[in-house]
Amino acid sequence: MRDLAPPLRAVRAVIFDTDGVITDSARLHATAWKATFDAYLREHPPRLPAHWRPFDISTDYPLYVDGKSRREGTTAFLESRGIKPISETVEALAAAKDRRYTERLRSGNPVPAYPGTVDLLHALLEADVLVAAVSASRHARELLVEAHVMSLFDTVVDGSEADRLGLRGKPAPDLFLEAAHRLRTVPAQAVVVEDALAGVEAGERGGFGLVVGVDRTAGRNRTDELLSHGADLVVADLCELLMEGAAP
Ligand SMILES: [Mg+2]
Repeated sequence: MRDLAPPLRAVRAVIFDTDGVITDSARLHATAWKATFDAYLREHPPRLPAHWRPFDISTDYPLYVDGKSRREGTTAFLESRGIKPISETVEALAAAKDRRYTERLRSGNPVPAYPGTVDLLHALLEADVLVAAVSASRHARELLVEAHVMSLFDTVVDGSEADRLGLRGKPAPDLFLEAAHRLRTVPAQAVVVEDALAGVEAGERGGFGLVVGVDRTAGRNRTDELLSHGADLVVADLCELLMEGAAP
């Protein structure tokens, strides 16, 4: 068993984003968005040639859709291509993305949890730190169950609950604040772990004691963006938040 690294000592709770932090599912979302938007852009080319670009997973995904609800992500992307987001179009595209994502999710290949995240979860449980999972997705619970990590969390706030409770999507801090509230912890004593720009911004806006950005791309730009959007520190994998325990 490894010990918690210094930044996580003396915290009461850690709140994890789900896609891309707990499970390797951000890619699944990104490819479902790309297929959906590219099909739409082919049939409805934007007016200006400068906007004739397919959805780019490395740039459009983090800027416009990652961490947001389907509707908010769709709206932001259409606007980035100079397309007015009419509500029927937004609904249709959001539904099409959900169909594609769900098909892939249920294709019989479960999305695994990152081993570094699982190790950190066990160390937090051992240290009596409370843990929550948060996601803008309605499929977060299904994902956590399939990845065999659902039982490790004290609470989960997902997209369905956000809808039911009228919580705003990231970069508003509502999902994280709801999780902290359920864990009976004030934000200043809790940590947010996020891989989305909108997510680290939500952590900062919520007044959380520490905001950890996760950059699995190992790209300098991405790390800088996470820092400038509110991350206090950035790691490539959550195992960096653990250290070898002292010899007995
Ligand atoms: Mg994420």
